[in-house]
Amino acid sequence: MEKENLLMIPGPVPMPERVRYAMLRQAINHRGAEFGAVYADIVRVLRLYFGTTNDLFVLSGSGTAAMEAAIGNFGAGRKIVSLVNGKFGERLGKIGQRYGTVQVLNSEWGTPLDLAGLEKALAGGAELVTFVHNETSTGIRNPAAEIAKMAKKAGALVIMDGITSIGGDEVKVDNWGVDVAFMGSQKCFAAPAGLSAISVSKKAWDMLSERRPYYLDLAAYRKSASSTPMETPYTPAVALFLALREALLIAEAEGVEARIARHRKMADAVRAAVGAWGLPMFPKTDALHAYSNTATAVSVPAGVAEKELRTAVKGLGIEIAGGQDHLKGKIFRIGHMGAVGAPEILAALAATEYGLGKAGWTVKASGVAAAAGKLA
Ligand SMILES: *Cc1c(COP(=O)(O)O)cnc(C)c1O
Repeated sequence: MEKENLLMIPGPVPMPERVRYAMLRQAINHRGAEFGAVYADIVRVLRLYFGTTNDLFVLSGSGTAAMEAAIGNFGAGRKIVSLVNGKFGERLGKIGQRYGTVQVLNSEWGTPLDLAGLEKALAGGAELVTFVHNETSTGIRNPAAEIAKMAKKAGALVIMDGITSIGGDEVKVDNWGVDVAFMGSQKCFAAPAGLSAISVSKKAWDMLSERRPYYLDLAAYRKSASSTPMETPYTPAVALFLALREALLIAEAEGVEARIARHRKMADAVRAAVGAWGLPMFPKTDALHAYSNTATAVSVPAGVAEKELRTAVKGLGIEIAGGQDHLKGKIFRIGHMGAVGAPEILAALAATEYGLGKAGWTVKASGVAAAAGKLA
């Protein structure tokens, strides 16, 4: 049998059949009406999920392309403050160093962001704040509304990585006052990897850098998107646009509220399983920081062989994720985003429960049963 693993990692995630079939097309002209309509559909639905009426563009590049577009277009030569409590926050800081002057506010990965440090940095003249809403590497959700509010008050531009929150958790770009936000196609919307989308506020346009990247120049994206039919400046990844449009039509039919509620239910179920197993959640939350709605990170107790856990799970045709960088071997992560539901969650938890036994952990109680109770 041809092997197709069930991917329960924090992206890429399993794609609905409609999404996959949308790519099986003869080439179409990316300067024609059909492509323009595809692009317009994508923008229409993404605006609902971003919670914005701002300009919104699709880039032919994965989430990191949008991270670089955000900072490259608005951060060149500027004083940037980067909030870091995981891998992707760290990446934003590193990109910032290529373009501007960065003050990195490091918190231990998976612990709350340094908001007191942010207050000081803003008072000290920081012009731009970068942070990750849902830090996929550690399963913590950072307080986007509060960060944006602090930055706004100080007149700084707010750049938010919403790559694993947009489409799986509540995001309100306009209400919160986020100037630049972005998503990635292979995460919460269950489309193929390779596209990202970015929204740009009026205030951000006013701060557009003189020196910008060429391929990711958002002024060029704005010009092309304003033509009829809508276009991108250079040849886009057309087949991926077709698939993303299909994924978004599915999300539009589901509805924003229902989709977020479904993700919340899956997150609750996975956390119930972790509790039943007697394992500690990895993130340290507080009044402002919460557990992720789209990926759960679990601490691996000493003596438990995390690699063996994932190998056993993979042997059953399911993939869960380990930790990145210094968290390798110390945590495992289960993705619960996109087009999945109870069958996939229960299968992943059953395999994980089995794998935990193989890795040397005796579960306190059945996580599968605890999760089923939440999903029913
Ligand atoms: C996956 C991810 C990225 C990076 O996206 P790529 O598509 O791998 O380039 C950035 N930020 C967050 C929060 C992510 O989960």
